Amino acid sequence: MPLTVYNTLTRTKELFVPLRKKEVGLYTCGPTVYNYVHIGNLRAYLFDDTLKRTLLFNKYPVKHVMNITDVGHLTSDEDEGEDKMLKGALREKKTVWEIAEFYTDAFLGNMKKLNILSPDIFCKATDHITEQIALIQKLEHKGFTYFKGGNVYFDTSQVDDYGKLAQLDLSAETRGRVQKDSNKKNPHDFVLWFTKSKFQEQEMKWPSPWGVGYPGWHIECSAMSIKYLGKQFDIHCGGIDHIPVHHSNEIAQSEAALGKKPWVKYWLHNEFLILGQGEKMAKSGENFITLATLEEKGYHPLDFRYFCLGTHYRHPLMFSYEALDGARNARKRLNERILELKKAKGTASPTKQKKYLEQFTAQINDDLNTPQALATLWDLLKDDTLPAKDKYALILKFDTILGLDLKKIREGKIPPQVLRFALERLQARQKKDWKKSDELREKINQLGYTIGDTKDGFELKKE
Ligand code: AMP
Ligand code: ZN
Repeated sequence: MPLTVYNTLTRTKELFVPLRKKEVGLYTCGPTVYNYVHIGNLRAYLFDDTLKRTLLFNKYPVKHVMNITDVGHLTSDEDEGEDKMLKGALREKKTVWEIAEFYTDAFLGNMKKLNILSPDIFCKATDHITEQIALIQKLEHKGFTYFKGGNVYFDTSQVDDYGKLAQLDLSAETRGRVQKDSNKKNPHDFVLWFTKSKFQEQEMKWPSPWGVGYPGWHIECSAMSIKYLGKQFDIHCGGIDHIPVHHSNEIAQSEAALGKKPWVKYWLHNEFLILGQGEKMAKSGENFITLATLEEKGYHPLDFRYFCLGTHYRHPLMFSYEALDGARNARKRLNERILELKKAKGTASPTKQKKYLEQFTAQINDDLNTPQALATLWDLLKDDTLPAKDKYALILKFDTILGLDLKKIREGKIPPQVLRFALERLQARQKKDWKKSDELREKINQLGYTIGDTKDGFELKKE
């Protein structure tokens, strides 16, 4: 069945035709590891994972590369702003290297909990400084750069189709923009290599033909994707915020250096996860919600995965705890149905499964329509004409894309989170903290368990 994807480059849904039979190259812009990722970022990586699982489902041999931005880069997409890594280091009184390692591990932990398939190659910007310098030298040699005020800039005026991904109207854009960096010839020009750091205590520095310094942000993704996926590859992903600057700059510098167009065939972007009243996810404070925040409130990471699947990746996703409760309840019901179906006797018959499998495949192959695919799953559960064994077999096939870990659902085992709350509640009671004890009872109830006190401690029961 054909697979179609929405390509930001052409603003149309296109048939997916890989460049090569042997390998489908997929590149994802990874996080900047100066803090925990928030659930908005995680929506981006879940979208990516669904795309990769869909390619695998369609039997494409995927090679997935994700970078880790561990070199300091700036808090704004301009070359101005603050150095994110340095900011993290100062906040936590650690070195930038320690910060990067800690938050990389935290990110990997989140990916595992969300059942996100591990990329084939995880590459760090700081391990690829040589490749970045070589790419900048190539651009310099071809006349696409200029050196001003101690930094190497990319000269966007040398590229006739700069901004094509974002469909930027350069004349209008240029008129409206305030030039903050007086070294730039054009407002869209960007730094490839800094030797003149405006930050004190800059720890991450390397020697280069232009002096000791560090790379600009955009060059790392071009250098690493070209290294691992070749001079042209199939798909590049990220959130919509990357379209006007980061991805536009990646395209400009890569096509200038390689002389091949298009550098990447399909560009796929996810819409944002937003909070009520359209608020943006913040980097700190009340609006900074991480996977750990959800777990502390008693949600399972896969409740969040289910929640994301319920909205198409190209639509904004409004986050609220009420909506997440809905996803949790649906997942709970689904898990219960799985347990019933698992016990059924008989043999599965592929012919009986055909209708639903085709329907599900058509939906998922239509630019990853996960909300419709989930609806198909619930429809088949309600279908009395379909034997239980076939329902079970179908759902496990669907789960290779949904990633809800349905094969591992087991009966009777008390979830670790429930047990943790029960133990915390026991401690609270021993300290006669009745308020906390009641709060924990409420959390346990929300997870579908009741708790009673016994002589030796407590007794948990499934509601
Ligand atoms: P960053 O570390 O800022 O580069 O973000 C990592 C990824 O998360 C990028 O692909 C961003 O486009 C994406 N992203 C950032 N904020 C959100 C959000 N609120 N919703 C969805 N994706 C986001
Ligand atoms: Zn990138």
